Amino acid sequence: MKRIAIIGGGIAGVTAAWQLSRLAAEGADLEATLFEASPRLGGIVETVREAGFIVECGPDAWVTEKPWARELAEELGLGDEIIPSNDSTRKTYIMQHGKLVAMPDGMRMMVPADVDALDRSNLFSEVAKSAFRAETTMAVELKAVAPEHDESVASFVQRHFGTEVLDKIGAPLLSGVFGGDVTRLSVRAVMAPFVAMERAHGSLILALQQRLRESAPQPQIFTTLKSGTSSLIEKMVAQLPCNWVKLENTVRAIKKSSTGWQIETASGSNRFDALLLATPVDVARNLLRPTDPTAADLMQMETSSAVIAAFGFQAPLELPAGFGFLVPPGSSGSRLLAATFADQKFDGRAPAGSRLIRAFFGGATADSLLNTSDEDIASLAMEELQQILGPLPDPVLTVVRRWPRALPQYAVGHLERMAELHQRVRSDQNLWLLGNGYRGVGLPDLIREARSAAREVAAHPATVR
Ligand SMILES: Cc1cc2nc3c(=O)[nH]c(=O)nc-3n(C[C@H](O)[C@H](O)[C@H](O)COP(=O)(O)OP(=O)(O)OC[C@H]3O[C@@H](n4cnc5c(N)ncnc54)[C@H](O)[C@@H]3O)c2cc1C
Repeated sequence: MKRIAIIGGGIAGVTAAWQLSRLAAEGADLEATLFEASPRLGGIVETVREAGFIVECGPDAWVTEKPWARELAEELGLGDEIIPSNDSTRKTYIMQHGKLVAMPDGMRMMVPADVDALDRSNLFSEVAKSAFRAETTMAVELKAVAPEHDESVASFVQRHFGTEVLDKIGAPLLSGVFGGDVTRLSVRAVMAPFVAMERAHGSLILALQQRLRESAPQPQIFTTLKSGTSSLIEKMVAQLPCNWVKLENTVRAIKKSSTGWQIETASGSNRFDALLLATPVDVARNLLRPTDPTAADLMQMETSSAVIAAFGFQAPLELPAGFGFLVPPGSSGSRLLAATFADQKFDGRAPAGSRLIRAFFGGATADSLLNTSDEDIASLAMEELQQILGPLPDPVLTVVRRWPRALPQYAVGHLERMAELHQRVRSDQNLWLLGNGYRGVGLPDLIREARSAAREVAAHPATVR
């Protein structure tokens, strides 16, 4: 029987374990052990359900366009739970000079589908509006100068729309998702569809307009589960053989031998035929370094932390219509990176007549809060929210979470480095790298990768060459 170790019980590790359990149930001769350092599975995926509120501490949804999370939810019997974001009221605000200003309608990230809508918005100066308009007239030049190689998000966005658009919406949109400094983030890794649009059309605006004309009406942008994203984890865990899961089992070292992988925890050392390493990338790098220093070097990347504070309010509370707001990094006035009006983004997040707001700290602020108490984080978040939204009543529910080094930064050249890494650790070592450091940070990509690794490992010969 093939023995498989999975290290790390976030969405990546749990999905891999679940997929292996399905394959075993279908007759594959294998068993797996999932080592998780903490007392719970799910990692960053965590839903708190309390007093009628559904509070997401990590991901609150997935991008609808990518099918793999929905497919998994349906296979787990969660089809009835799937709900879309409330896109009829989709608006995102940007904090500007201490006030919330709505992003113009029809923006896809920093690309407007409707240039005229820019005139109805006071988010951008005349200089930026002219830059948007000019982009549609420069298609030929933009196509001609599209670089062959990777570049930063900053240089890509500046070439098309200038610095103001980058600072006002590019930086806040990306830094919350990719832990990023836009001057270092790889445009090919984090904005691949836009790179393809540039290559084909030069102008991103014209490319987007053509795509919208030719494609079927877009479904809602985000999808989630009524009972929260943790339901994915709970359903998978309920179907795992219980002797597969080892909670509070931190893996201290891994060693490759001629017959497999030796996994060391506080309770001893065990041999496995294959290893799925699904810890955060910095942990994976340190575990792998003694075996393969070159692979570890390729896994070197900066990561940034996130801290969230969510508040449930029972009192009536007027909020701007929409999903929430973003604060451009470096803009004076607020330490927040973003806030979500959770009960407006999705139905059923708060009891009738109640509101749920989630404040998000990122970057250096999040790092500085990692050792701050829950109470102090909550009061800072409340203070910052009140400065922007006006007086808020006392919350009936407060949830604070710290996610240290949770968001890896895919720096320029990331795809090339990952191709090289994949080449090195490809399955003839019986090693698979999973999780958000490599080929996508969102739930759908992590689920797709984990399921495909599980299928490969089950099909792969057991002995290390
Ligand atoms: C605040 C926030 C909001 C987000 N929002 C969204 C969103 O809306 N949509 C979306 O698609 N994505 C979102 N993301 C990204 C997404 O949630 C993460 O990329 C994803 O959950 C990471 O999963 P993972 O399995 O790679 O890692 P993790 O969830 O980090 O899991 C890794 C696990 O490994 C364990 N571990 C670590 N070291 C060891 C060891 N030595 N031995 C054993 N176990 C170990 C950890 O305890 C942890 O449980 C968000 C991320 C954050 C931080």
